[in-house]
Formats: sequence, structure tokens, C-alpha cells
Amino acid sequence: MPTSHMPPLHSHFSGPYIERATALRRNPAQLAAAWRADGTRFLPVWEAQCLIREGAAARLRREEIGSELPDPAQGIFLGLEQGEHRFAFAVESRELPELPGQFGGLRDLVSNVPADDAGLLAYARGMINWHRQHRHCGLCGAPNRADEAGFVLACTSERCGSRSFPRLDPAIIVLVHSDRHCLLGRQRSWPADRFSTIAGFVEPGECLEDAVRREVLEETNVEVTHCTYLGSQPWPFPASLMIGFHAAAAVGEIRLNDGELAEARWLDRAALADGGVVLPPRASIAWQLIEAWHDRVPGPGLASFHRDGAFLRPANQPPEAR
Ligand SMILES: [Zn+2]
Repeated sequence: MPTSHMPPLHSHFSGPYIERATALRRNPAQLAAAWRADGTRFLPVWEAQCLIREGAAARLRREEIGSELPDPAQGIFLGLEQGEHRFAFAVESRELPELPGQFGGLRDLVSNVPADDAGLLAYARGMINWHRQHRHCGLCGAPNRADEAGFVLACTSERCGSRSFPRLDPAIIVLVHSDRHCLLGRQRSWPADRFSTIAGFVEPGECLEDAVRREVLEETNVEVTHCTYLGSQPWPFPASLMIGFHAAAAVGEIRLNDGELAEARWLDRAALADGGVVLPPRASIAWQLIEAWHDRVPGPGLASFHRDGAFLRPANQPPEAR
């Protein structure tokens, strides 16, 4: 199927919202100076929550933080905004910290801040979450310490010396379609009218296309004939990278083989238009995959008439992962 007419997907939580300046991570002297510089700003993460202030990510000055500011070795160098350094740090207190702004969960904040700030907050939270979940070496159990500005966690046991790197969980997400229908599913924890694309984690020993074929077959019994990559999206709930496809299939009988979905349906464009189903939020690649398929035929675009769904919390994740 020709795909050259499709616009490239630009996804929420991604894009050039910061210059990562990765070479600086191995320059401790320069980073130590940056930690004290006037233009440097700090992004706190507390209990997996981010701080916003006046409709934007809170970029705190040192004097606004006071005693909550950790030792520089605990800071994570995120990169440069307009040439000024940005660090993330974890607030370890159990009480709500007294910092200027409001802490909140990322799902609640994303629609209240500009897209670039949503990306920055998700990046900061993703790094801090990784540190919190890897305080100890997975091989020998000794404490880890941060290295390379927070982008390496190194085992403190000399005999072990294991080093680990920020973890992402690759997942495929796919809009399966025939000529006139697309295949959408509803997870058990979702409202009765909420539907989205098929998605699932890639497993060791699989390429992305293998994972597309397996997930669609397991969840709906539909056999995919071929698939086309459209784009990807960091999905920081907690650490996924969604890799988005369109996949062709013949309309076939749906069977929910693995019980992961409560329901799946073949829907034509009219069914999407009549408001009977609620689609995922527009900030998600799931929405973009559906929109790209829907808008292939002339007529009003999906965004012109379809209401936006809310960010839903999976029922099976611990609070810090949401
Ligand atoms: Zn170790």
C-alpha cells in the first residue's frame, strides 16, 4: 500500500523540546559549574509527580528550592534550553514538599501545559523513576550509584561493577484495517464506549512485525497480511516507547483469544463519525493512527467532529508507574 501521501506523525512527549548535549554527561567539572550557574533551572519529581506553575513546567531557581536541593551527584542533567542547563532531581521527603507550584500526576498535567513542557516533564519523571526502581544492582544486590550525569547506574561492588542504562519498554501499537473498516478494541478496565488500537509489548526474540502479527492474532484472532511503520511516541506511563503501524487484514471473525480485551469491533468510518465510540486522547499515537486511516478518504477529517477521550489509567499498574 502506498504511504507516501501520509504526513509524518509528530507525537506528544517527543520532539526537539530540549538539546540533550550528551557530551556534557562525561564532563563532571563543567556540570558542577553548571549546577551553580545563574541561568540553571531545576525540575523536581516527588513520588512520580511533576511540578507545574502558571500553566507550564516549573523550572525552579536554586533559591526557590532551599534544603530540598540534593547533592549535585544526585542531579540528572537533562540538557540545555536556550543554552541554559536543566537538571531533574528527586525530592525524597514523604510529605508534600513546600515548593512553588502544584505537584500532580503526568496524565493530569499533560493537557494543562504546552506540548514541549509535557515532553520535558515526562523526560524528567522517566529518569527519576528509573533511578527509584534501580537503587540496587540487579546482579549482586549492592547499592547502585549514579554516573554520567545520571544516565548510568553503576554497581558499587568492585567485584561486580555492573552498569545499567535508562530502561525503555518497546511496544507495538497498530491500527488494523481492511478497505473500509478498522479494528478497535476495548480493555476490561475502560468505559463501555471507549475503543482504541491494538497494542502490546515486544518480547525478546521478536522483530516489531512479529510482535504486530502476534498481538493482533492473540487479542482478536485476526491475521495481519503486512504492516507499515508510521511513527513512534514515548509513552511515559511508565516507560514505554510506542512504535506505530498500520496493518492490513481481511475482515474476519473476531475471537478474543487471550482475554486481554473485553471487546473488539470492526468499525467503518461512519461508525467513528456517529459518536458511538470514544477514541483515545489526541495527544496519543493511538489517535493519530486512527486519524491517519480515517482521513485517507476525502471528506471532513476525524479531528473536525470527534470528541477527545481522556487519559485512562490502566487498572493493573502501581501508583508510581501511572
Ligand atoms: Zn552488582
